[in-house]
Amino acid sequence: MADDARLVGKLSVASDVISATVEFFHEEGFIQLLPVLLGKSTDPLGPDPGSSVIKTAEIEYLGAQLRLMNSMILHKQVAIKKLGKKIWILSPNIRLEKGERKSTKKHLFEFTQADFEIPNAKKEDVWALVERYYKKLGKRLRKSEAFPALGIEPFRFKTPFKVYETHELEEKFGADWEIPASLKAKQPFWAVCHKREFYDKEDPANPGHYLNYDLVYPLGFGEALSGGERENEYKRILERMGRDRLGMDVYSAYLKEAEQGFLPSAGAGFGVERLVRFLTQEEHIGGVQLFRRVPGEEITI
Ligand code: ASP
Ligand code: MG
Repeated sequence: MADDARLVGKLSVASDVISATVEFFHEEGFIQLLPVLLGKSTDPLGPDPGSSVIKTAEIEYLGAQLRLMNSMILHKQVAIKKLGKKIWILSPNIRLEKGERKSTKKHLFEFTQADFEIPNAKKEDVWALVERYYKKLGKRLRKSEAFPALGIEPFRFKTPFKVYETHELEEKFGADWEIPASLKAKQPFWAVCHKREFYDKEDPANPGHYLNYDLVYPLGFGEALSGGERENEYKRILERMGRDRLGMDVYSAYLKEAEQGFLPSAGAGFGVERLVRFLTQEEHIGGVQLFRRVPGEEITI
């Protein structure tokens, strides 16, 4: 198949995925919010071993220093508090990763994630929702005309997905467990309990244990999604931000909202391009973008 026809096929899969995702969250009773791109503060993306961002992109506008979204997590917590409803966003993110990340084949410095948050939810609620999503998506894609045109079959998701603690995966596959474990897997699996950003909840009954999770695709495709139950108490948020040495002035508006009280919540975000890469079995994630945004690659337009 000519390269152009293949690209059309992959973009048609992406289009079907977006339409199925909008339908799924709508049927599940979520309110779809439009994304914000700029904020006083954004996700600090650390200390996550999966992140290599050089810096958060900033612009000065009318005397204010504004940051481009690494992710909308802070805005999601505020949205949950203001609305008290399940919300989701197709959220464009800018993550200025190191140039070497081109070789992971799964990093983009500009991508879109389906980012959702549920008030008063626990991690098991999120896992069940995500498993319903992949099941429905698989079923829906079997009717898509884009796959036969590409000469591939849509993946058959079998749920529930297995759950592993990160330390188990490290013991078995070493510190860089993600790709070796993914290569061995036949179905997506949950990897739970990572030391990560301040907003992922630390189990109050079990310090050093985190109530968060990644979903990992099989066949070497690696990380699909990250999320967690959230730290919603002001005191805990301050402590965790102190641990990460975050500049409090940047987060002052977020902290004010936290001080007035956040609702407990849990959520996650999954990368749309990573999902399309997995479904189309594409070698490099840049291959599912019409306008490639691969770290270390020159932008042509
Ligand atoms: N969206 C993710 C979350 O909900 C965070 C991320 O963007 O990595 O935790
Ligand atoms: Mg992640």
